[in-house]
Amino acid sequence: MERNTMARVLLGSEVAEAISLRISGKIDELGARGITPCLTTVRVGELEDAIAYERTVTKGAVKAGLEVRNLVLPKEIEQQTLIDEISRLNCDTGVHGILLFNPLPKHIDERAAHDALAPAKDIDGVTTLSHSGVYTGEALGFAPCTPSACMSILDHYGIDVAGKHAVVIGRSLVVGKPLAMMLLSRNATVTVCHSKTTDLASIARDADILIACIGRAKMIDAQYLSEGQVVIDVGINVCEDGKIVGDVDFDTACNIVAAITPVPGGVGTVTSRILIEHVVDAALKG
Ligand code: NAP
Repeated sequence: MERNTMARVLLGSEVAEAISLRISGKIDELGARGITPCLTTVRVGELEDAIAYERTVTKGAVKAGLEVRNLVLPKEIEQQTLIDEISRLNCDTGVHGILLFNPLPKHIDERAAHDALAPAKDIDGVTTLSHSGVYTGEALGFAPCTPSACMSILDHYGIDVAGKHAVVIGRSLVVGKPLAMMLLSRNATVTVCHSKTTDLASIARDADILIACIGRAKMIDAQYLSEGQVVIDVGINVCEDGKIVGDVDFDTACNIVAAITPVPGGVGTVTSRILIEHVVDAALKG
């Protein structure tokens, strides 16, 4: 039987707009205290992706009313020198949030570099303490921005996850694992899938809420989807023609599921706004 209703498209821009309103209220509050929230980005080397991300983050933060400082360090930097630079920023009371771009050069121990960040300034939630905050529910550091963006989208559109079966495909430390914990803390029943999961399609079809954070262009097609599902597509994949697509085959999904986030214009749009809000929150706490 032909299905003639299309999925509701959960627009990141609507959620981002609501977050922006919150941010400007908080910036006004800080302004009254003579404080301008300050983000410092730290880039090691000249990787194209990091430069592009630095440009995007800077533009968004300045537009929101933040001060932004861009620290660029040579790719040959010694680990201890990098850690000293981060410690210096930790102690600088004029800096409220620090964003360290990945990947770091191979000779740097990434975990050590991340853990050098003061959790109070760890706006991207990369320190071990921030991770433990997500797992324990205690307010330690900041939750990572991308899973927080997924939760914000669900909240904004009034999608209650309690008692629902949420299937997260992907188990990275930046997206899949923390997101699974956040869904669990909201009383979803969570299944985490990965590249070794058998019968992935049938597990995915059983989801009420399906979250794809895989990094495989349009992998989630009709065989993974079922009617009534809410689908959050975290994937950002650049095709050969330069087009950006998600992990979900959007056109196919629109004819099957109840609601879906687009790519671009979905999770990514919200993630960048959450990052800015974290800087502002760090300034409010500081
Ligand atoms: P990642 O570290 O590469 O993790 C990918 C995960 O997907 C892994 O857990 C992997 O399983 C799983 N996976 C890979 N192929 C699979 C398959 N065929 N079947 C089932 N699971 C499979 O990637 P990530 O950093 O989490 O990012 C995931 C995607 O989200 C990427 O497209 C990235 O660009 C995007 N992203 C978007 C935002 C945003 O703001 N929208 C932010 C961050 C990342 P194993 O663990 O078994 O290898």
